[in-house]
Amino acid sequence: MVRLFVRFSPEKAEEPVTAHVIKETGATMSILNAKMDQSGGEMLINVDSSNVEDVIEAFRAHGAECNRKRGIFQVDENLCIYCGGCYSLCPVEAIMFEADYKLIFLDEKCIACKNCEDACPVKAIKILT
Ligand code: SF4
Ligand code: SF4
Repeated sequence: MVRLFVRFSPEKAEEPVTAHVIKETGATMSILNAKMDQSGGEMLINVDSSNVEDVIEAFRAHGAECNRKRGIFQVDENLCIYCGGCYSLCPVEAIMFEADYKLIFLDEKCIACKNCEDACPVKAIKILT
């Protein structure tokens, strides 16, 4: 399976783009995370590797951004001041605090939006894409 990150503009978020892509490509996909509102949408999907190029092309043909997801966390825990800025801004609950305030990042949920990287006041987080 290949993980893809799809981003929809506000206009495209109201259209059945994903249904069109499935119908046109015949691909099966599992939706790992999805968030849609008036400002647009983001979706993280798993697609069989044999269909991945067709799926990327179909999403793009329908006006959505679609790329392989390659987000990798790098956190410098020596810099972290436990402010919670990253945690509170993550749209998909991919960041958790343990009881001792150690940060836990759940890579399988992350959609590489970089909210956490932008919010961190001490530049402790890097999302490599
Ligand atoms: S980049 Fe950071 S804020 Fe965005 S989904 Fe991943 S962990 Fe959450
Ligand atoms: S935003 Fe930065 S300093 Fe604040 S908890 Fe997250 S990693 Fe630590």
